[in-house]
Amino acid sequence: MDLPTAPGLPVAPSPYPHLLRPLDLGFTQLRNRVLMGSMHTGLEEGRDLSRLAAFFRERAEGGAGLMVTGGFSPNLVGQLKPFAGTMATSAAARRHQVVTRAVHEAGGKIALQILHAGRYAYHPLAVAPSRLRAPISPFKPLPLSAAGVERQIRAFVNAACKAREGGYDGVEIMGSEGYFINEFLSAATNQRSDAWGGDYSQRMRLPVEIVERTRAAVGPDFILIFRLSMIDLVPGGSSWDETVQLGTAVARGGASLINTGIGWHEARVPTIATSVPRAAFTWVTQKMKAAFSAAGLATPLITSNRINTPEVAEQVLADGCADMVSMARPLLADAHFVRKAAAGRAADIAPCIACNQACLDHIFQNQLASCLVNPRACHETLPEMTPRPAAQPRRIAVVGAGPAGLTAAAVAAERGHQVDLFDAASQPGGQLQLARQVPGKEEFDGLLHWLARRLETSGARLQLNRRVTPDDLAGYDAVVVATGVRPRDPQIPGQDHPKVLSYIDVLHGHPVGQRVAVVGAGGIGFDVAEYLVAGGHSSTLDRAAWLAEWGVTDPTQARGGLAPQGPQPGAPARQVTLLQRKPGKPGAGLGKTTGWIHRAALKMKQVRMIGGVNYERIGDEGLLITHGPKREDPTWIACDHIVLCAGQLPQRELADALQARGMAVHIIGGAREAGELDAKRAIDEAWRLAVML
Ligand code: FAD
Ligand code: NAP
Ligand code: SF4
Repeated sequence: MDLPTAPGLPVAPSPYPHLLRPLDLGFTQLRNRVLMGSMHTGLEEGRDLSRLAAFFRERAEGGAGLMVTGGFSPNLVGQLKPFAGTMATSAAARRHQVVTRAVHEAGGKIALQILHAGRYAYHPLAVAPSRLRAPISPFKPLPLSAAGVERQIRAFVNAACKAREGGYDGVEIMGSEGYFINEFLSAATNQRSDAWGGDYSQRMRLPVEIVERTRAAVGPDFILIFRLSMIDLVPGGSSWDETVQLGTAVARGGASLINTGIGWHEARVPTIATSVPRAAFTWVTQKMKAAFSAAGLATPLITSNRINTPEVAEQVLADGCADMVSMARPLLADAHFVRKAAAGRAADIAPCIACNQACLDHIFQNQLASCLVNPRACHETLPEMTPRPAAQPRRIAVVGAGPAGLTAAAVAAERGHQVDLFDAASQPGGQLQLARQVPGKEEFDGLLHWLARRLETSGARLQLNRRVTPDDLAGYDAVVVATGVRPRDPQIPGQDHPKVLSYIDVLHGHPVGQRVAVVGAGGIGFDVAEYLVAGGHSSTLDRAAWLAEWGVTDPTQARGGLAPQGPQPGAPARQVTLLQRKPGKPGAGLGKTTGWIHRAALKMKQVRMIGGVNYERIGDEGLLITHGPKREDPTWIACDHIVLCAGQLPQRELADALQARGMAVHIIGGAREAGELDAKRAIDEAWRLAVML
């Protein structure tokens, strides 16, 4: 049945007919097939939820069919960390009304996720089926008594009732990712011998009871999503038969929708990072769809993970992999994802590049989440993050069309200023032009296209091949210098040898020999090493190769979907040695949630990683290093090329010259400070400046 769409969304013809088709749940209808998946932002904590309300209001206005909040614990022991958001009382329900009212006023629907952390809880009150510490937590959980299990079930049911009281349209019961419910399912984490342990039919009693009792308590007209771990990706995970058994039981037990969970948090397989192929796991949901169909079940299934464009989402649905798609980070990147897709403006959607840099990495460091491409995300109520029309249009020059310059120019022009953006290069993008060459970083290409398109539609004028000097900038009301960085010279004796290349040469395609030493193991050193061992093949663009590389197989073939033979990486294209002067393991400073993936990927490709070295000399033999402060154990690293990735310094000549003339300039991005620079900081600084120019 075709239902009326929300105001502003066209009825027909639809550019994405499967994605934009309403979904009839019987007692209610969803306006399209986009679920904004649960994502913790940090706005869930505290008593005042008005910022969370503003966050969801924008996304409801942006057209999402149904949204799910970050996880709220049903009780104290289930909190992920102390003081985490909890939904257990009528007072809590009342506090949430500001959120649900905002969403409903904007024509949206929202469900509250009930998340019991189990042994992943980061506090000493953690409880679990058995006294087994998770490899990713320092806290050993208390094993629950039978009465304790009963209390947890009642807490889930109570949380769902309170969510309804608070005005939510439904709840999502978090049954995947290795949290409490998942821990009951696996024999590896559930060693009980009572009615909640033993064989699978006993181990799955907990989720089935939770769903049945919740449905009975909330009534038939309340959305109940169950997040089912369809592929655990951990040793001892569920078999496919077990997963199907549970899926059918919770569907029959009253779930309105079944969402897909991929991998426990302790899994050693990346599941959402940028190097994971797009839609990498939709085939798993498709298998469940076939199993549901065979069982005569019509409960809609939601698929998830690395779906970030309307085209990919549409294809997944057109292929029959699922009935709905879940996208969480893409709606952080662009609140108006659905509305833009429906209006045929997909090219204007700010793309989530799956970097995790401003969302998950922030959360893991106890900071508020935001987004690399959309620094306003989670700051919707802050005037300093919200561009408004300029009171007085001015002539503004922006020098440097890297991410900082592109953002500053576009935001300033959108506000009504007359902006000229200059770059010495023949293409815009600055260092993003290098990042997009790295296998596994293909998403940076989309980011670059979007930044360039935004600039074009903003009305700013881009002038390429223009190396700007101070004389070019006379007559402007304001000058923004975003000239970025230049490579640091590590001053190694003999580095004028023809064997020596910079990362810029390499990523621009300079031929490189078979044996390579990489000097510097920061973000760029790691990327260059990945580029060199990949030899032109990116498994991110080859799903079958990627799954084999990380040891993922069909869950019908092996428990948890882990291939018995383990990861099967292809042979490295080159023999690479990655070096740093700091003692300790290279890569310690990489992204909080993605560093382990880079380290594991290079290890699989047999890259030698050595810390604590001194670079003594470069010669025909290669690179001479010694070890430690006493410069011991001199060793020649025999190699055909040495690639310098020794960090960067600000490109400040223009800014310095302008300041020497007494001109006021705004300096942003790498030009201001090269230490700890990344695209996140470059874009954030540019955004904040352009809002107040
Ligand atoms: P730049 O990107 O350096 O741009 C400066 C621009 O100014 C250049 O286009 C230059 O041509 C122009 N310019 C300089 N002088 C003049 C002049 N006088 N006149 C005209 N134009 C001039 N960051 C992340 O956040 N995540 C990543 O995963 C990531 N991966 C990376 C991988 C690689 C291989 C590299 C090299 C970088 C990566 N980065 C990443 C870093 C990120 O790209 C930079 O931090 C970011 O581009 C800096 O932005 P910027 O605008 O300050 O400077
Ligand atoms: P970086 O992360 O600061 O690493 C610089 C490397 O050079 C370090 O390994 C450093 O280690 C070494 N080094 C510093 N001074 C040296 C010297 N004088 N001689 C020899 N080696 C020296 O910088 P980067 O790798 O150039 O990356 C630039 C920025 O881009 C980073 O800030 C990073 O955040 C960003 N980036 C991010 C990603 C990502 O995935 N998020 C990827 C790529 C780049 P030692 O001093 O111990 O030798
Ligand atoms: Fe996506 Fe990166 Fe933004 Fe997170 S920070 S939403 S991963 S683009």
